[in-house]
Amino acid sequence: TCGICVEKCPFDAIEIINLPSELEEHPAHRYGENAFSLYGLPTPQQGQVTGILGPNGIGKTTAVRILAGELMPNLGEYADPPDFEAVLDEYRGTEKQTYLERLDEGDLSVSRKPQYVDEIPSQFDGVTRELLEATDERGVLDELVERMEIGPVMDQSIDSLSGGELQRVAIIACLARDADFYFLDEITPYLDIGQRVTAARIIRELADEGEKSMLVVEHDLAILDLLADNLNIAYGEPGAYGVVTDPKSVRNGINEYLKGYLENENMRVRPNAIKFEEHAPRPVEKGQVLAEYPDMEMSYGEGEFSLSVDGGAIRENEVLGIVGPNGIGKSTFAKMLAGNLEPTSGDVDVDLDISYKPQYIDIAQPMRVDVFLQSITDQFGSSYWDTEIAQPLQLNRIMEQNLEDLSGGERQRVAIAACLSEDADLYLLDEPSAHLDVEQRVQATRAIRRYAERQDATVMVIDHDIYMIDLLADRLQVFEGEPAKHGHATPPQEMRSGMNEFLSNLGVTFRRDERTKRPRVNKPGSQLDKQQRKDGEYYYAN
Ligand code: ADP
Ligand code: ADP
Repeated sequence: TCGICVEKCPFDAIEIINLPSELEEHPAHRYGENAFSLYGLPTPQQGQVTGILGPNGIGKTTAVRILAGELMPNLGEYADPPDFEAVLDEYRGTEKQTYLERLDEGDLSVSRKPQYVDEIPSQFDGVTRELLEATDERGVLDELVERMEIGPVMDQSIDSLSGGELQRVAIIACLARDADFYFLDEITPYLDIGQRVTAARIIRELADEGEKSMLVVEHDLAILDLLADNLNIAYGEPGAYGVVTDPKSVRNGINEYLKGYLENENMRVRPNAIKFEEHAPRPVEKGQVLAEYPDMEMSYGEGEFSLSVDGGAIRENEVLGIVGPNGIGKSTFAKMLAGNLEPTSGDVDVDLDISYKPQYIDIAQPMRVDVFLQSITDQFGSSYWDTEIAQPLQLNRIMEQNLEDLSGGERQRVAIAACLSEDADLYLLDEPSAHLDVEQRVQATRAIRRYAERQDATVMVIDHDIYMIDLLADRLQVFEGEPAKHGHATPPQEMRSGMNEFLSNLGVTFRRDERTKRPRVNKPGSQLDKQQRKDGEYYYAN
């Protein structure tokens, strides 16, 4: 769209958004000629959690580097950067001026959590305890370690930690410092819902009780909703330019963003709205059975993790959502289905050919994306493959890049494509939402569902983004128990009872936003929360 036809663009295919003319002259920063420019800056506020919501590549990190004092904004004058006074002049009379002055005087300290925690092991050699003790400027380490349940890996070497453990260690390391301004670039990847909520609470407390300024980039809308006081939307054309808006209320911000139209700015940022249909759980059609499995037990050894699985059936052509905390035996179950792991008791008579996308993606090789995908499917390049896989997963613009140069979100999309392109009986995707922005999540969801429908494929999806599971799944399998000790899997069931079982374990209820039908977490103890618990309706109330 072009910012003119704001209601409904007749050219849905056009994704390029022209720069609003009033912004044209005043970027905060431009990297160079024809290079990325950033317009607007978020303003961290003391005692508040400010959220930033927007696609990847839109300048969020650039903005934070400016606010962290790492990058001097050049106001677009990349060839002849202005001095600090000129920058202050640009922001005179605003809170940004005060902020930048304090930063310049060395009166403002900053603590940051990077986006890609997978990279920490290559930067730090040693055990968890050493890394964390060096950050404990507030003397809160023991408390944080306990709440984030990192105790068991304190003496483990950093390079042996799982993604979920690294994410929590990185969050603790950031929050244990004594800073004025905390910046966290995505807190949810690899964390289960319980861990997400705990991290969100700790961040909120540091703002409320510690009177700190918190700035958080996040794509899990349920968590953003729970966490932030106000929200800056970032929009534009990824890689070319980005605009950060002034703060909005979280509810309006998320709603306007989903709608694709920013009201105050009178700006259309996306041709189509992202809709959360308020669908009753999908009617379950009794399809053909793909695989039936009996009650099974699995134990890794005396005193180690054990899993009991209630027997059930996976139907052909369904998307089965799998939910439950980390370390509860979801991968163990998948390995048994694939015949890669022998249960201690119970006879798995199925031997399914499973195409598996693991949670942590390890495809960083010096190989081009197109060459990699070509090696997986001879459908590569066909118009069918292009329409069903490449386009919805936005692969065409990264085909010529090397796998090792991809960002986390790009790598995720290539891995989803690779998984779906295999010839298999069952497709198992572990956390496909990790590092995808909101639009990419919706598009990946659509691609996976369409693929299941058109290819008569059966798909199992493990994910902790509850919106994504709701949009994706026909039925739900719930894992419960005590992580790392014992797990129990119930048979696949319909969405309503599955969500109720899962969310009652967590003690979280959802309501629908009146305007957008977006599911929102209820405040614990609120009228609705109490009523829904009483009714046993945790998700699909009314
Ligand atoms: P986000 O955090 O929203 O993903 P970034 O701020 O990291 O976005 O990047 C925005 C754009 O700026 C990207 O296209 C990136 O390639 C570009 N960019 C980042 N750093 C530099 C740099 N030092 N020089 C030139 N371009 C850069
Ligand atoms: P999830 O997929 O739900 O995160 P997993 O099935 O990967 O859970 O793991 C469940 C538990 O089993 C974890 O505590 C994990 O450390 C343990 N585990 C996994 N594989 C092994 C193994 N080969 N030997 C011993 N313990 C294991």
